[in-house]
Amino acid sequence: MPTTGYHSFNHSSSDLVGNFRHELPDFRMEGCHKKTYDLTTLGKTSIIIIFHNEARSTLLRTIHALLERTPILLLVEILIVDDASTHAWLKEPLDKYLQHLPRIRIIRLKQRQGLIRARTRGAEEAKGDILYFADAHTEVGEGWLPPLLQRIKENRKVLVFPEMDPIQHQSFEYWRAGDEYHGAFYWHMEFKYKFAPKEILNRRSDPTQPVPSPVMVGCAHAIEREYFFETGAYDTDMEIWGGENIEHAFRLWMCGGRVEVIPCSRVGHVFKPRLPYSFTGDSASIIQRNLIRIAETWMDDYKKFFYATQPSTISAVDLESLQKRKNIREKLNCKDFAWYLKNVFPEMPIP
Ligand code: UDP
Ligand code: MN
Repeated sequence: MPTTGYHSFNHSSSDLVGNFRHELPDFRMEGCHKKTYDLTTLGKTSIIIIFHNEARSTLLRTIHALLERTPILLLVEILIVDDASTHAWLKEPLDKYLQHLPRIRIIRLKQRQGLIRARTRGAEEAKGDILYFADAHTEVGEGWLPPLLQRIKENRKVLVFPEMDPIQHQSFEYWRAGDEYHGAFYWHMEFKYKFAPKEILNRRSDPTQPVPSPVMVGCAHAIEREYFFETGAYDTDMEIWGGENIEHAFRLWMCGGRVEVIPCSRVGHVFKPRLPYSFTGDSASIIQRNLIRIAETWMDDYKKFFYATQPSTISAVDLESLQKRKNIREKLNCKDFAWYLKNVFPEMPIP
């Protein structure tokens, strides 16, 4: 019986796949193969991979897939942010391994920051026009980048993410996700893939076109660098893990932007059954505190539906740093949450 071990996936299955999966299936739909892109007109990209105690083989596959399948013309750099890992292989041996690979820089955080500040640090160091954020257990598919960049070229106020194919956490088989999903959530604020409503899908001229998405996954997404900072980057007072993708999507939609799935871009991600690493405190309260920050900043009266899903112990949040996020909402002249629900996520049941 395979075990999930430290990483919350089967480490030996991952090792057996090796550092690069040559035979990664190409799951793009037919229409995608007919598209052509003028690479010289697309944004140059900085890729930001963050990790805390990631397994060697998943991390190396993430890097090698990117190096192999990203047109060099579009790649400024791969910034690898080590969020204060403690595993020995991720130290000197990793530096040695990476030193002969092109356009890679590793940034070591001295103290554990959590994924939100780790990504922010990468973004601050990045020099490209476009930021692409990736988890350290993803594998990009053939032709993954140009369709994302093309969409940002058409409209710089769009955050785009690929169709995420699930890599099985036990067998490491690469499965195909459907083409008509988008990102949703329930009132307890956990991300959930859902079928996009027919009315939304039917508005598109063909199935290769972007699918608007109420929220997105954090494990793979691209946004123009300047637009990322103009719209408030991340809430860096969120800790370790949880909710930053929902906060980001609310903010972009409510403040004049969009979030879309791009079906012709496909990336695999290991969806883990639980989070493997330690938190810097009680994980439930840390996650809850992140979510309260979203509710208080963005959800107006609808926050009561979120609070109704929570256990009675409500964590205290820092009001001063919360006010900074509310100021961003004010400054960007953002719409209210009722507008978001009506226009972006009409299928969300209101209790
Ligand atoms: N991560 C990090 N610091 C943390 C927690 C997570 O750098 O304190 C990284 C982690 O290694 C991964 C990414 O953030 O590359 C997202 O975390 P994870 O994959 O555990 O979240 P999931 O995809 O399961 O929601
Ligand atoms: Mn992940």
